Amino acid sequence: MLTCFPVVNEITLMYFLEAFLNLIYPPQCWLCHATLAERRQTLCVSCREKIRHNIPPFCARCSRPLEKLSRSICHQCQKRLPDFDQSWAATIYNDAMKELLHQFKYKGKTGLRHFFADLLFVFIERYKVPVQQFDLLVPMPIHSAKYREREFNQTVLLAELLSKHFSLTCCDHNLARVAHGPAQALLSEKERWTNVQGAFRIRQPQKIKNKSILIIDDLITTGATASSAAITCRKAGARTVGILALSIGQ
Ligand SMILES: [Zn+2]
Ligand SMILES: [Zn+2]
Repeated sequence: MLTCFPVVNEITLMYFLEAFLNLIYPPQCWLCHATLAERRQTLCVSCREKIRHNIPPFCARCSRPLEKLSRSICHQCQKRLPDFDQSWAATIYNDAMKELLHQFKYKGKTGLRHFFADLLFVFIERYKVPVQQFDLLVPMPIHSAKYREREFNQTVLLAELLSKHFSLTCCDHNLARVAHGPAQALLSEKERWTNVQGAFRIRQPQKIKNKSILIIDDLITTGATASSAAITCRKAGARTVGILALSIGQ
């Protein structure tokens, strides 16, 4: 039977719903709170420019940008070579990333995970990070006390999106954080390395034996935490341990 009513399809309905939502609850930039044109945007144009993408030349070991082209490894790796095989990081940890990670980890703004995953996808694609060569993605664990407080682990949220995108198995709950010392950010560089010694354990070594593991982390600063996790994985039989982080300190 013919109808004289206009056909309201799903797309039209979504359009009106979004327009209505934008009117009563305008989308805002997650950094400066300026009104955004579209809800799927995360940052306004000027705040997007504040994100510093990690660009070559990279340190051959940790991917920190090199200050001198004559060297192949960065100042941090020269001081102490990390214990993981290689790390990659998509952005430089500047004030904008610091604020966004703070919102993500401590203010429950978990919606930022899509924005962060996109930064990782672009970096992986652009610099041919060999993620497909790894057998397992392992989110960097947080201590259970922190988990109870936060109710989620930020690296699990990122690892889940990476796992879906690259069809890689995500192995959560095997690498566990057992020691709960002072926050790394409160310690000197030397103290950071001793603070995380023995901080991890593997619950089921048979699951990582002879496997190539890519640990997903939000931030690399000195590399001490990532190194300690890598040592634990290797002692449990992992063949290689790489780190993929959203951000790296300079
Ligand atoms: Zn903004
Ligand atoms: Zn380095």
